[in-house]
Amino acid sequence: MGQQIKLIDRFRRLHRSLRLSVTDRCNLRCSYCMPAEGAIFVPRPTLLTFEEITRVVRLLSNRCGITDVRLTGGEPLVRRELPKLVAMLADLGTLTDLSLTSNAMLLEPMAAELRQAGLRRINISIDTLDEATFRRLTRRDGLDKVLRGIDAAINAGFENIKLNATAIRGITESEVIDLVQFAIEKGVQIRFIEFMPLDADRNWTNDGVLTGDDIRQRIESHFGALIPHRTSTSQPATDYLIDGKLAFGLIESVTKPFCNACDRIRMTADGSIRNCLFSQQEYPLRDLLRDGASDDAIVRQFIAAVNAKESGHGIGETNFAPPDRPMYSIGG
Ligand code: SAM
Ligand code: SF4
Repeated sequence: MGQQIKLIDRFRRLHRSLRLSVTDRCNLRCSYCMPAEGAIFVPRPTLLTFEEITRVVRLLSNRCGITDVRLTGGEPLVRRELPKLVAMLADLGTLTDLSLTSNAMLLEPMAAELRQAGLRRINISIDTLDEATFRRLTRRDGLDKVLRGIDAAINAGFENIKLNATAIRGITESEVIDLVQFAIEKGVQIRFIEFMPLDADRNWTNDGVLTGDDIRQRIESHFGALIPHRTSTSQPATDYLIDGKLAFGLIESVTKPFCNACDRIRMTADGSIRNCLFSQQEYPLRDLLRDGASDDAIVRQFIAAVNAKESGHGIGETNFAPPDRPMYSIGG
């Protein structure tokens, strides 16, 4: 094993977590993420292979202190043979956590196989329980599949299942209580994530964000006083208990950014390192991997990315500009 290093940036943040996009393709077209038509995808030959991904994760976990890997996309379940990649990463035996974020459209037939392959945790995105709103938001049918996917994940025995709802003003208000109720009934936690300027259509405005404060007030007026419950400082969500049980969380990325506790780096499906969702610069890895670069050269590219990380995402600052890639292309 080569020299051990810690991925610590200029602001003394230690990086332990890798968000790994396995595809930018998706079977939905959520309006806060993708365009309705004409989405641009990376050419298939540029997607990192499972062997390339596994080499990178092995290096990061053996030498650079990365302990947590979350697979994402686009929709990670549309990547062919995903359970094979899960098994390759789980078999490294070096990760504390291996998780997945999915829209669950394809989860029902895959949940047990993913669990068996070594996937520990799963987050499922669900913004609405209403079929018509689902169709309006995702521009596709399929709420029934998502609901069956949630049940399949529960039946497959995943630990600590979380539901994610993007909080958009004018859409989410009427769903907040029903979604919390639904999560309580299913025995899982729901987290509301403030809408961020990462939509392909560039329609984001500050007014479009349904804020954590607003959601808290709505839930409090229905369920009574809430007790915040923070499990870890690097966890972006503030969790809340209802009747003594974890019920929901708020990820207030826009109104209360958690950048000072960020421990994440990201890798796009076509093999570029990003140090932030909002970074303007990427650190290419694919050509290094394909041109026979040494392990040291690959580690150096991660160090360069981490060293250049800014202190915060800058949303709301006068010189803020959204990144060139929308959410589906970065990996959320
Ligand atoms: N397709 C998978 C899914 O939807 O769960 C994984 C990728 S998706 C980009 C990851 C998460 O990002 C989802 O929970 C989604 O709701 C969230 N997301 C997408 N665009 C967003 C935006 N503009 N602001 C906040 N969250 C967003
Ligand atoms: Fe697809 Fe997830 Fe983006 Fe929706 S949020 S379009 S499901 S990648």
